[in-house]
Amino acid sequence: MPELPEVEVVRRGLVSWVRGRTITGVEVVDPRSVRRHALGPEDFAGNLEGARVLDVVRRGKFLWLPLADTPAAGPGGGPSGPAAGTPVPAVALMAHLGMSGQLLMQDSSVADEKHLKVRLQLSAADGMPEQLRFVDQRIFGGLFLTSLIPTADGGPGGLAETPLPLIAEEAAHIARDPLDPYFSFEEFYRRLRARKTGLKRALLDQGLVSGIGNIYADEALWKARLHFARPTDTLRRAEAGRVLDAAREVMTEALAAGGTSFDSLYVNVNGASGYFDRSLNAYGREGKECKRCAAAGLASVMRREQFMNRSSYSCPVCQPRPRNGRW
Ligand SMILES: [Zn+2]
Repeated sequence: MPELPEVEVVRRGLVSWVRGRTITGVEVVDPRSVRRHALGPEDFAGNLEGARVLDVVRRGKFLWLPLADTPAAGPGGGPSGPAAGTPVPAVALMAHLGMSGQLLMQDSSVADEKHLKVRLQLSAADGMPEQLRFVDQRIFGGLFLTSLIPTADGGPGGLAETPLPLIAEEAAHIARDPLDPYFSFEEFYRRLRARKTGLKRALLDQGLVSGIGNIYADEALWKARLHFARPTDTLRRAEAGRVLDAAREVMTEALAAGGTSFDSLYVNVNGASGYFDRSLNAYGREGKECKRCAAAGLASVMRREQFMNRSSYSCPVCQPRPRNGRW
C-alpha cells in the first residue's frame, strides 16, 4: 500500500507531464478498473474525452485531477471575459492506486504493459509522451470521475500547483494531512483530546489527520517517544506537537528519498520505496536493538505487539506502556 510520500512523489511527477493537456482519447481495457464509476465505462470515457487536465491535487493518500471542459486560452489570456484561461473545474478524475496501481507516461510506440487497464491519449506536447496509462496488477485500485465541492474550511482542497478551495467529493470526509500548509494544529489537538482513544488509533483516523499509515505511525511514535496505547485525553499539547512534528519529519525524509524516482518517464508507485529499507527506526525491527537507546549506551530490544489486527513496533525503554492504555 503506498503511503503519503509515495503518493506525493506521483503527484509531483504527474503534474509536470499532464498539466494543461487535453485528453483526446480514452480506452478502458479492463472495466473492473473503472467499476467505481457508477455510470459505466462508456460514460467514463465519454466524459473524459475533450477534457483538459488543470492540475494534480493530493490530500492524504487521495489523488485527483481537476478537469475543465473549456479549451485552453492562448498565452496572454483568452479572447474575452475575466475568467478566460482560468476555468473553475466542477469535475475531477480520481486515481485510486490501491495496492499495486501505477500511473505511467508512455509513448504510443511502447508496447502495452501486461496489466494495462486504462489508456488516456493526451494532446501533443513538446518532448512528452502521448499516453497516460493506468496499470494495476491486483485491481484494488481504479479510476473514476467525481464532483468537486467547496472545502469545509474554505482553504485549498489539498496540495496542488494552483490551489483552489475545491475538493473531490470522495476525499471531503478526510482531514488535512501533516504536510498540508493549511493543517491546523489547534483543531487537531482539540479533537484529539476529545477522542478518548489510543494515540495510534487516533493517528490512523483519517477524519482526524489524514495520510498517516501503519508504518509512519510507528515511526512517528518512536521518534516522539510515545507509546501507541497512550490515552489521547491525557496528551499534553507538547506531546501532541511532538508526535505530529515527528510524522512530518519522517514523511519529509521519505519524500526526499523518493524524489529521484520521477526523473524517468515513469511516474510509478508500488508501495516500496528504497527509503523503507534504509531508514526505519521502529517498523519491522522486532528483536533488534533500539537505535536511540543503543546510542545512549542502554540495552533495549524492540518489541512487537498486536494492534488492530496488525503489529505495532516500539521500544520498551523509551516508549513505556502507559497506565490505562487504550489499544
Ligand atoms: Zn529505546
